[in-house]
Amino acid sequence: MPDAGIALDSGVATYQNITDPEQLAVIDQWSRRMIWFGIAAYLVGFGLWFFAPSGLIARIVMLVTALCVYFILLLLVMTPRKLRRLAKEMGWRRGVRPVLPYPLSVRVQVATSVIGFAPMVVVMGLQLPGMFGFTIVLAMPVFLIGVTLVKSSRLREPGPPSCPKCAYPVDPPEFPAMCSECAAPMPTLDAATLMPRVYRPWFLWSGVGLIVASVALFYGVMFKPPALVGVLPRPARLALAARDHKTFETFDLTKLSPAERDRLTGRILSVRDSDEIAYLHPQLTWIGGRLLADELDADQVERFIVGTAELGVLTRSRDDGRTEILIHAETPEQSWRTVQTTYFFGGFEFDPVPEGYSILGAIARSESGLDWRSLGYTFDERDRHEVKYPALATANDAPILTPIIREPTRVRARVVFVAVPAKTSPAPTIAWHDDGTWTVTPQPLAAFELTAERMIEPEP
Ligand SMILES: [Zn+2]
Repeated sequence: MPDAGIALDSGVATYQNITDPEQLAVIDQWSRRMIWFGIAAYLVGFGLWFFAPSGLIARIVMLVTALCVYFILLLLVMTPRKLRRLAKEMGWRRGVRPVLPYPLSVRVQVATSVIGFAPMVVVMGLQLPGMFGFTIVLAMPVFLIGVTLVKSSRLREPGPPSCPKCAYPVDPPEFPAMCSECAAPMPTLDAATLMPRVYRPWFLWSGVGLIVASVALFYGVMFKPPALVGVLPRPARLALAARDHKTFETFDLTKLSPAERDRLTGRILSVRDSDEIAYLHPQLTWIGGRLLADELDADQVERFIVGTAELGVLTRSRDDGRTEILIHAETPEQSWRTVQTTYFFGGFEFDPVPEGYSILGAIARSESGLDWRSLGYTFDERDRHEVKYPALATANDAPILTPIIREPTRVRARVVFVAVPAKTSPAPTIAWHDDGTWTVTPQPLAAFELTAERMIEPEP
């Protein structure tokens, strides 16, 4: 038998048999470490998703730092000196590949694909957060393991002298010989190979299966074809219906149990409040319909109407040193088809009281767009000490004030959110009473009062 490590077949000279137990032990340790390191990097990368800063520059800096740490660790810790020495001894260079016994041969394939993929998780999390990146991160490992299995289904492995063409063992090894399987001529032992490709059909088909599964996973999550969604179990489809209007529309909503309706309502509002998905109109129209049918409890109504509403402040500095401030309420998305929601400002307070402020007018939001309307209201010195702005009686009015802001100033507003059936005409109005209460006409479906505040920073 010729020495292992010598390429016998000129056609496969770029492969090198590794059979020395010491060398195998080095590679064995390296491949195990690589797989664990890759898995750890995948999980840490996932963890970093939750700490992703919102600014683009900050995200790029974080990404570059994370990748640098990854590659430095990979080079320093994960390429042991023993392996480097082995590579040098064996004269490995570009294109020369070690041929390893099974199953180490497969594990090395897995290790290289794991370490190649692991940094993708942090790239996706920091550059493409959301459903797309998440799907890539889930589908990619399945895809890569599939590819690795397909590649591993015909790996070269150290073996007895075999036919270089079909890997059939040459038996007995007497030369000149002819392959008894494919009739390839082998005039000398050198014409046989000690590194036959070993065919493992089970690897091939499970690899193909994983590739198909990963593509289906990606396709299913991104495009949600009805046929694929249809085979999901009912709870999974219900969960999906909260985020995906196509799935939602395939549901027969009248057949939901009361508990399922409440769960779906809660999920839809969570998706809406997370601001992740832009199009939730059919789902919100349905919740509006539930409100009209008096099917929602008080907490659900408040969550639907008020949700994550907050005070919005737009500022613009003017040539006269004043700051023009537009105050409005940033209301969560609702459906205008079933329920119309409006808000009324019940007065403002500034802390500290800024100098020389007055109300310029108000932007009124109406069906035709934004209307400018002067409130005909100016402040004199006396008002300045009263600290309070008047309540506004028209729905969705956004007052524009022009104080001089010299220091961080807190603006606090009393806001009443009102829900009425869609197309209620005339639009609801509010009457503010001296004792601090209010009345909305016509009688609304629901009304909530809350105090919201916001800081205004002085212009630099
Ligand atoms: Zn053959």
